[in-house]
Order: sequence, then structure tokens, then C-alpha cells
Amino acid sequence: MAKFEPHSADLRGDPRAFACPGLYRIVPAKDGGICRVRIPLGCLSADQARAIASVATEHGNGIVELTNRANIQIRGILGPEQELLISELVDSGLGTGERWADDTRNVLMNPSAGNDPDELIDVRPIAAAILDRFSNDIGFAVLSPKFALQIDGGGAMSLADHAHDVWLLAVDTDAHGVMFKMGLGGPIDYGPDCVDARLVRPSECLEVVVAATLEFIETGVRGSGSTHIRQLLETMTRDAIWHRVEHRIGRSLLKIVPGQLRSRAVLVTRPPVGIIAQRVPHLRSVGAAPVLGRIDARGLGAVADIATRFGGGNLRLTPWRSFLIPDVAEDSAEDALGALSRAGLVCRDDNPLSRLVACAGSSGCGSAKTDAKKDAQLLAGFLNSSIGRDTIHVSGCSKSCAVPGVADVTLVGVSDGLYDLYRRSPISDARFGARMVERVDIGQAAGHILGAKP
Ligand code: SF4
Repeated sequence: MAKFEPHSADLRGDPRAFACPGLYRIVPAKDGGICRVRIPLGCLSADQARAIASVATEHGNGIVELTNRANIQIRGILGPEQELLISELVDSGLGTGERWADDTRNVLMNPSAGNDPDELIDVRPIAAAILDRFSNDIGFAVLSPKFALQIDGGGAMSLADHAHDVWLLAVDTDAHGVMFKMGLGGPIDYGPDCVDARLVRPSECLEVVVAATLEFIETGVRGSGSTHIRQLLETMTRDAIWHRVEHRIGRSLLKIVPGQLRSRAVLVTRPPVGIIAQRVPHLRSVGAAPVLGRIDARGLGAVADIATRFGGGNLRLTPWRSFLIPDVAEDSAEDALGALSRAGLVCRDDNPLSRLVACAGSSGCGSAKTDAKKDAQLLAGFLNSSIGRDTIHVSGCSKSCAVPGVADVTLVGVSDGLYDLYRRSPISDARFGARMVERVDIGQAAGHILGAKP
């Protein structure tokens, strides 16, 4: 394979060049350049999915991967191909008016928004208004490409382990009806009380999110050089930030009174696969996950065709690296699921691959100690549905790029084919939990996971 050469399309003059991939900033990896296509609110048309499949074949190595922020990455792009790839993606409606705006489109919405029978509010209009403001106001261009927001309508498909700079969770209050609990820095707090958060009416969300972000830009980005609110929290309390936000909007926000909100049982930790109820009784969403988050261009084209044939020609991407095809007629849902299964996707919850996550590993990443993708496939072969609900993360090194939180079981690569194995533990606050064994191969790791002796 020809060597990856940085090209003008990677914005060489940008101080954030190579920080993380974007549509206009292709970063080098072992298998070529990576282009991250941000999918606004995780909503992708079947035509756009076909366009991505086509450019991945023409200008990349034909492999695309889904990310844990519901975006898509095209891999294996060689330098001379970059501008062509970018212009074809922009022609497919996947670009932004200004190049800087691609970096500010980091709004994660619960992927079942608008369809979830349990949600308190359809957050799509609010999320779209926030996204629109962030991608059209150049005042936000100074934000890090990793600055991110999350908005959750309070339904069944909730994401708890991603830290976000600003988060909003719909809650039911006796006194005010549906409000949003709004937090700064960290994962969404799904508990009943959260003294660090504020209550915001749906009609106020855009205003308060904008005010909080502008305050962070002034105090954090320009003041202390922070890229995330959690860094600002090292020198400033949340209350102090809220005080400044309230000053900006000219009024106080409601605090949460302990006992005022009902707690929610959450959360989804694995891809939602299978047939999923929708608010409209005769419609279903059908969920399926590419094996270890990767799919080739042909497979992506097949998913797009299935969405067109059985659904409304639309896809939702989930932060669990999977697809939802919404609006499938109830009596066609099994056929749609069968088609996805034949296309090679994981469609059953009891398939061990539905709970396995692996990073690029040594085939795609120069930092890897081992081939995490290949080893995860091997591990799946040893496991069966008896492993219960555990999530398993196979990481090529200790950087843990693929999982932002902590999986139930984490294998950290230490040398070729060997891993240290950790288990999440309530009595360990170590990064991956408690270390159970060191330097085991995949067969021994499977033995530990299944409770057998290595
Ligand atoms: S966790 Fe390590 S090996 Fe895996 S992608 Fe990140 S840096 Fe590379």
C-alpha cells in the first residue's frame, strides 16, 4: 500500500490538525487516512449511506466504522484521494457551509428520539436548533472538535457512560411538567437528585446551552486554555459557572429539590438489536450491529437497501456502533431483520458479538500492542450466551479509545496476543476496575470470563 501523505485537505495550518479526524481533516493511521463523517444527530438517509459506501470503495480501503458518538469513519484513504473524497461527501449533503463548522457538530441525541414509546419528549426539534446554532455561529469555532453535547428525551434508550461538556435529560416534575435536567461536564446523571444540575424548560434549552457554552469559551477556552468543561471544573465549582450563566441570561434557573424527581432505571450498555417497539403501534424499529463496529462498503450498501425496502429510507446511528432502521411495518420486521442478518450484521442480543467492543488494534493503529480486532473475534468464538449481560472491551493498549466509560470486563493488550484482564468493581476506582489476571492469551481470558480456570 502507498504511504499516507498529509495533504492540503487536512488543514495543515490548523493548530488542531491531526488532533482528531473530521470531514475536512483526514488524519493518518497505520492503514491510511481516516475521515470522520459527522452524521447530524445520527440521522442518515439511505442515499447518503450509499454515497459513503461508494466513496469508501473509490478512495479508501472499503472499510467504514461506526463510532461511539454515532458518526461514521472511512478508513484507508491515501493522500492523493483526499480532496476527491471530501468533495464527493460534500456533494452528498454530508458537509457544512464552512469548514470550521464540521468540528462544532457534536450533538448526540438518543437514537430512538421521536419513536420511543417511553420518552417524555421528542428532542429532535431542540437538538436540531442547538446543532443549527453551533454550526452557523462562528463564535463557536474556537471550541475543541471534541467539545460535545448530549440531549436525552427520557426514553428507554439512554446512554450513561459518555462524558459530555453539556447534557440535557428530560424529566417529569409534578410542579412544572416535563423539564430538562441540565448538567455541566461528565456523564448524564440519571439519579433522582443532582444538586449540581439546573432545571430548564424545553423552550429555554437553546438559550441556556448557548449561554453556558459562551461562558465556557470566555472563562475556560480563553481564560484558562481548557478544551473541556471538566478541566474548568478543576479550578471553578459548577455553582460558580451556573452563577455566571444566570448572569448572562439575566435570570435564575431552578435548582433541583431532593425528592422532586423520580429516579429512572437505566441503562442500555449494548447495541439495541432485534425488533423494537415504536410509539406508533403498527411500526417497529429494527436494530442491528456490524461486527465490532466495522462494515465493508458492500455491507453498508446492503443496509441502505434494506432501509429503503422495509423502512422509510432512513437510518439512525447509535452510540453503541449500530444501526436502527425506523418505521418498518410490524408484519415486515422479521423479514427486515433476516435481511440484516444475511448481510452479516449482529441481530440477536444473545450473540456474544453484541456485547464485544474492540478498537482498531495493530492492523490500524501504530500504538497497539496486539491485534485487538482479530483477538475480539477469536474471543467471541469461545463465548456463548451464558456470559449473561457483561460488556467486554478488547483494547489494543491502555489508551482505551473504543470505550469512553468502563466495560464489565476489559482486556488491555500488553504484547502480541497477551492481555491483562480487568473486571469492573464497586470497590476499585482504577481506570478499568480490578485487575484479575495478567498476560493471558485469548483462550485463557475466555476461561476467566466464563468462570472456568485458565
Ligand atoms: S486503544 Fe491503543 S491500540 Fe486501540 S486504537 Fe487507541 S491507541 Fe490504538
